[in-house]
Amino acid sequence: MKADLAIRNARVVDHSGEFFGGIAVKDGKILMVGASDALPQAKRVIDAEGRCLLPGVIDTHCHLGVAYPYDEDMRTETAQAACGGISTIFLYIRNKKESYLPFYDERRGIGEENACIDFGFHFGIQREEHIREIPAIVEHTGVQSFKLYFGYEPDNPIGIVPANDGWVYATMLQVAKLPQGVVSVHCENTAIASWVKRDMLASGRQDLGAYTESRPAFCEVETIKRMIFLAERTGCALQLVHTSVGAGPDLAAEARAKGLDVTVETCPHYLTRTCYDEDLDMTAKISPPLRDREQLEWLWRGALADKVNSIGSDHVPFLPKKGEDLWTEFPGVVSFPWELPLLITHGVINRGLSLQQLVRMNSCAPAKRFGYYPRKGSLEPNTDADLVLVDLEEEREVEHEGRGTCIYEGMKLKGWPVMTVSNGRVVYENGEVDDRQHGQGVCITRPGR
Ligand SMILES: [Zn+2]
Repeated sequence: MKADLAIRNARVVDHSGEFFGGIAVKDGKILMVGASDALPQAKRVIDAEGRCLLPGVIDTHCHLGVAYPYDEDMRTETAQAACGGISTIFLYIRNKKESYLPFYDERRGIGEENACIDFGFHFGIQREEHIREIPAIVEHTGVQSFKLYFGYEPDNPIGIVPANDGWVYATMLQVAKLPQGVVSVHCENTAIASWVKRDMLASGRQDLGAYTESRPAFCEVETIKRMIFLAERTGCALQLVHTSVGAGPDLAAEARAKGLDVTVETCPHYLTRTCYDEDLDMTAKISPPLRDREQLEWLWRGALADKVNSIGSDHVPFLPKKGEDLWTEFPGVVSFPWELPLLITHGVINRGLSLQQLVRMNSCAPAKRFGYYPRKGSLEPNTDADLVLVDLEEEREVEHEGRGTCIYEGMKLKGWPVMTVSNGRVVYENGEVDDRQHGQGVCITRPGR
């Protein structure tokens, strides 16, 4: 049998180990994994020349169609993701209408017309009707992952409807019954932060540190603890998203030791940037905020000890930021293209994170968390051929030309993706995304999955 694609002479790494050899792909699936000489003939053969071949990155956290039209974002940002070795993205999306069913149909349809890689959805609970609709949502859309938002005041400029504990409890009761059900929570105690912010506003400060100090780390820690308590009461799986505090991974590990299903996601920016970095200003505002060096290193200790489940970018392209007022600036940055080189440089090279650990956080664990393993996130035969070829020796500076705010401009990183394969299709190579791949990506959250 002739394969479509064979990648030979690679250092093949997955979450469990590594070997020297290659992978053959046919009809979008992995056909064979093994020694280069044992691979079947293929229509296209790539010599990896010893570079690293990993499962494609699964980025389970982004927001598209927030500031720019959704159809455009699904085109431009999935291309940005492919440049970063990402083969699947999950969107946290919100809908304020009573039902999620028409919204899903529309978002899936427009997504499949434009995306060049696979994508899936988590839905935000934005009104009580959404909680009651969960069984119908699962049946109609396949989505079993729901997000609740603390950390936003009722008049926030993004228009997010904040949750209350009643919503969390009621959602968890519903989601606990689902086979792959997960509740994600943005953890920050907004009531306390609002009080702290009043003093900070009076001070007149406009530096990035003022924003961070107006939302202290203990506000996030408090809500994490409260959510773990509710997860225990309800027996619901809990994903702590974009965790910025070092205590997060420790608290989740303690909960898991008690038998609870609690996982932690953190983001590349919390592992690589602090609010006191001299080159950053108010345009680096993110929610939750960038922290200080102590929290950053604490998060790394958690990651190195396997207490961080997954990395999500929280990629959100906003219109160019004005940089005029710290308090009304939109919170959020883009990260897709640099997620992998940031983790390789700051984790693998600088701190001794193993490539297996990297693959576990980037591919295997996120696929497991949301119920897509081993179809996604593994290198097993007959699973989706989602791959990234990485050159660990390539070193260059970050340059950003796309949408949104980049907080890494000029940073020298080592370990860049050179080729991204999604369902057997070469989407990115030689520094270019293949435009013909738009419209080939598939929505993987679907009924009856
Ligand atoms: Zn987010």
